Amino acid sequence: MVTIGIVAFQGGFYEHYAMLLRAFAETSIEGEVKLVKKKKDLEGLDGIIIPGGESTTIGKIAHKTGILYDIKEVIESGKPTLATCAGAIMLAKKVRDAKVPEFSQPLLGVMDIGVVRNYFGRQRESFELDLHIEGMDEAPYRGIFIRAPAIVDIWGGARAISKITYNKEEIIVFASQGSILATTFHPELTGDARIHKRFISLVKR
Ligand code: GLN
Repeated sequence: MVTIGIVAFQGGFYEHYAMLLRAFAETSIEGEVKLVKKKKDLEGLDGIIIPGGESTTIGKIAHKTGILYDIKEVIESGKPTLATCAGAIMLAKKVRDAKVPEFSQPLLGVMDIGVVRNYFGRQRESFELDLHIEGMDEAPYRGIFIRAPAIVDIWGGARAISKITYNKEEIIVFASQGSILATTFHPELTGDARIHKRFISLVKR
């Protein structure tokens, strides 16, 4: 039995919840899902999800409620972590914005990646694209990008699992580091549970 917590301040936490239940149903792994809003909710977790949404809002609420550093501890203790879109921004050690030159926001800063927020700009706020993901050869994965960031820098322990070409630039859209998975797209919004299944098998290990 595994217990997965989803940080539930803002953004797509219910969609992750539904996708996790589906991933449990499609594997033989038994699990339960908890929504995380307070320090107490972090107790006994085997893995954690940080959803997409608005990274400034998620960061500010986590900071205000005082659990930002507790979440960071859970991740740094090696508990498998799935972070999507705004979640990936939260994990990055280097963050800048495509438009706003100077800004600061509470972040977790645990992953050796540099991201640019709102990389694809306003006009192309949303798009979908078939992705080739390392270790997922059966069929492409449909990536849904919503005001997505881009991973433009990667070093140390992090590595790229999927890339796309945009304006002739190679951009990383899925990276991992140890037992952390970070996507700039939204796997919880597809009908495809493969990324959540990969995550729960990491948690189960
Ligand atoms: N643009 C958002 C941010 O900067 C991320 C968008 C998303 O999570 N879909 O936090």
